[in-house]
Amino acid sequence: MTQTARTRIGILGAGQLALMLAEAGRRLDVDIICAGQPGDCAEQVAPVVAVDLDDAAAVAAFAAQVDLVTIESENIDATVLHGLNLYPNARAVGIAQDRLPEKSFFQVCGIGTAPFAPVDSLQDLERAIVSTGLPAILKTRRMGYDGKGQVRLHRPEDAAAAWEEIGRVSCILEGMLRFDAEVSLIAARGRTGQIVFYPLIENHHRDGILRTSIAPYAHASTLQAQAEAYMTKILEELDYVGVLAIEFFVQGDTLRANEMAPRVHNSGHWTIEGSKTSQFENHLRAIAGMELGSTESRPTVMLNCIGMMPSVEETAQFPVLFRHDYGKESRPGRKVGHLTCAASETTVIAEWQRRLGQI
Ligand code: ADP
Ligand code: MG
Repeated sequence: MTQTARTRIGILGAGQLALMLAEAGRRLDVDIICAGQPGDCAEQVAPVVAVDLDDAAAVAAFAAQVDLVTIESENIDATVLHGLNLYPNARAVGIAQDRLPEKSFFQVCGIGTAPFAPVDSLQDLERAIVSTGLPAILKTRRMGYDGKGQVRLHRPEDAAAAWEEIGRVSCILEGMLRFDAEVSLIAARGRTGQIVFYPLIENHHRDGILRTSIAPYAHASTLQAQAEAYMTKILEELDYVGVLAIEFFVQGDTLRANEMAPRVHNSGHWTIEGSKTSQFENHLRAIAGMELGSTESRPTVMLNCIGMMPSVEETAQFPVLFRHDYGKESRPGRKVGHLTCAASETTVIAEWQRRLGQI
């Protein structure tokens, strides 16, 4: 019997997304190796090689040991990514890692956004306030996550203090939108151009951090088709391979794009138990050139554990819960795990939203 060669996949990063990719990889003919630091949480399931992700030569040496490379974070310098056999490609990552080209790209693709303007000085900020209106959010163009790198402005007099607080770095100012809900669409595109979509997910944030994801979004109606059309446009425009997540604001029957993540996404963790094929497995299938798996899904809720992981004893009293402990040291505001549950278990979900301080 001939043996098909196993694909060696290198992940730049070794945090919880790499951990869950490596777990999904066990079901496929792939070998996963992560570039990170000793003690990073993916070490529990995959080898982690010590690599400084800011060091282009070190990353290139790591990439030379594998067939292809993928990322768990878009915040990797473009010069480091250059020349790698990278999925998704460096252009897609470059756009998604900088809010200015990202928002401009949405508009080029015919997708609405909040009003925005680039800000590189206090004078720019004062002008931008006039064009976007107030209230508005000043966001760093790069490296923002979990609401970090954002300052809210309510009055024109807030400009000087906001410019100092953000650290006088390249930013965009965005007008604050009033929205009915925040949703995300997760899709995967394979090397042959095959695309699969998950159902729209409703996301609840507090202090800029995702707390709860509910799939499917209950009021999707025509929005699912609209989101899929936007997603297809972006995936094809970028010749994208892998999983992509797009966050939208819902305003009536209109979607406005907020940001996109060129990787598996926190709002898709529920797919591990809720879908026939998880976002993690479909990402690996896509980049390894395999056929994508079914995204048929059951209504499911995911609760993030922020700063504190409940004990096994506590969660075991609720056998309907699936507990994911990333094995990370607890720190305030840090994502250390998540719980997944069938959406029909409303009493258990409400109880755990209370215990996790979400309501
Ligand atoms: P991050 O990279 O931290 O996820 P986001 O741009 O998604 O940054 O902002 C975090 C959260 O802040 C969003 O999920 C949303 O709740 C709120 N937010 C961001 N931009 C806007 C906006 N233009 N109008 C209203 N709320 C916003
Ligand atoms: Mg976001």
